[in-house]
Amino acid sequence: LAAFGNRSLATAIASRYRFISTLVLAEHEGGPSLREAAQAASCYPSVSQVLLADSDKFTHPLAEPWAKLLHVVHKKGNFSHIVTASDSFGKNILPRAAALLDVSPITDVIEVSGSHLFVRPIYAGNALSTIRYTGSDPCMLTIRSTSFPVASMSAHSKSSAAAIEQVDLSTFSEDDAVGKSKFVKLSSQDTERPDLGNARIVVTGGRGLKSAENFKMIEKLAEKLGAAVGATRAAVDAGFVPNELQVGQTGKIVGPELYMAFGVSGAIQHLAGITDSKVIVAINKDADAPIFQVADYGIVGDLFEVIPELLEKLPEK
Ligand code: FAD
Repeated sequence: LAAFGNRSLATAIASRYRFISTLVLAEHEGGPSLREAAQAASCYPSVSQVLLADSDKFTHPLAEPWAKLLHVVHKKGNFSHIVTASDSFGKNILPRAAALLDVSPITDVIEVSGSHLFVRPIYAGNALSTIRYTGSDPCMLTIRSTSFPVASMSAHSKSSAAAIEQVDLSTFSEDDAVGKSKFVKLSSQDTERPDLGNARIVVTGGRGLKSAENFKMIEKLAEKLGAAVGATRAAVDAGFVPNELQVGQTGKIVGPELYMAFGVSGAIQHLAGITDSKVIVAINKDADAPIFQVADYGIVGDLFEVIPELLEKLPEK
């Protein structure tokens, strides 16, 4: 598991229930220190050990040093499974580490049916494929975190927390930390709003918003609801909002309690990113828009009337 700060850590998780030994490459960003993050990780009931790789070689989420780190940790621990989240961090690192370990990874897992049996979406989520892993160990997976319940820490008291150990980096050379990719800069939108991937409520705007100026209405509504802001690819391509807000097959996968879509037609590539949402609300002036086929609640109406009314009726935060 790991950090993009100036330090990093690795966590080994052995599930008592299903797998013999699973290494989870987790991530934490900003906020807690390396130690605090490691301690938090150690409090999950299924974590038996936390491995810390405390080195400035892992300051940035570059694939080369991180893949090498996984390789080094695996050679020592001989894990049956190695798991990361299906986010840009995990998807960057895991395939490279899999190549170093000479195995084929399975990506975007949404269900674990057995120790070597997994379900993943194909055709932009229009079909589900069940895959049996028949390769050699380790079985390497990226998982869609929105498809699994959030693990609870509470059952585990501090006194029974897992041990925290330093990774032995003596075999990790300077050359291992250098690759073809270079960290240039980190640009992030705003830190006030909840993270799109973990938000409880997501308010998304589509091409129907018509301009970047109008898109501010979506931001205002999100602010009132304490929600994250999302966008369709059409809205991103039109320059209304930056790329990192894109939801869908080639954007972020979300799984909030409430997903609100304004001026979104409901193309399959967009729906591929929202099917884990608990309640979907769609506002579109076209009653035949495909988004209404997946929506739990729908308003056929003009968003330029509906949003101001919602803003007026919702209480101030
Ligand atoms: P449109 O389809 O143009 O829909 C706009 C909607 O707004 C219409 O339904 C219209 O009725 C409604 N509307 C207009 N004015 C109003 C109003 N005043 N009030 C209420 N409603 C109004 N798309 C994604 O979103 N995410 C992805 O990750 C993604 N990946 C893709 C990957 C590939 C390989 C491809 C080929 C496409 C991908 N797309 C993705 C694009 C996708 O196919 C659609 O083009 C896109 O989702 C459409 O965005 P939209 O719904 O905002 O726009």
